[in-house]
Amino acid sequence: MIALNATAGVSGFTLLERKNAMTDTMPRIEAHEFTIADFIGGHPALDFANTITSWDQAPRDWIDTYSRLVDWAVMGGLVDTNRAAALRKAAANDRQQAEKALARAKDLRLALHSLFSALAENREPENDILLKVEAFWRRALASHTITCIDGRLVVVSASRAADLDEISDRLARHAVDLAGTFPAGRLRQCAGDRCGWLFVDHSKAGRRRWCDMATCGNNAKARRHQARQRSAS
Ligand SMILES: [Zn+2]
Repeated sequence: MIALNATAGVSGFTLLERKNAMTDTMPRIEAHEFTIADFIGGHPALDFANTITSWDQAPRDWIDTYSRLVDWAVMGGLVDTNRAAALRKAAANDRQQAEKALARAKDLRLALHSLFSALAENREPENDILLKVEAFWRRALASHTITCIDGRLVVVSASRAADLDEISDRLARHAVDLAGTFPAGRLRQCAGDRCGWLFVDHSKAGRRRWCDMATCGNNAKARRHQARQRSAS
């Protein structure tokens, strides 16, 4: 049974170091203009994990700055443009805190990738991963309050001021929601080389293997074609 039943400090240990020990490769940070093609996960928590690509070989991190994180969050529908402007202003006013918030977001990202990779493979996630996600989730809850708007309960930020961790907070809440509700057998990791992206398979047949047929799917088809040609010659 998977349980989120203990507490841990958000900065208690460094998942990045652990991930590096596993892959022996620092994700190479590169500037990336996000497009809609980068949002194939079917859920913001998966799309966020997918902001590192080539997880399986030479990981590349597409979030090079706090501003890029905000770009990504706007495109992913996590924050609106007004909130994005407030976050950018807060980051410009305190660059050091923005760097720290970015590092925390990246720590959450590694935890989410480990968590959902395990769930996609029907494995139980490691306990330290659960503790890490739980710590982010607790922080997210603590920074929100419940209010009643038009007869419905709505979770809103407890502070009107821009909080540099707001994107991480939203992602942590979304991630825990997803981890408890994704359709059985439909959480997948792309079978392509130099990928490792995660997605929920919403296809009718439930046989989606690739993050995107136009990239990883076609690459795999091309490799199979080349292999057949080699064996026929
Ligand atoms: Zn792929």
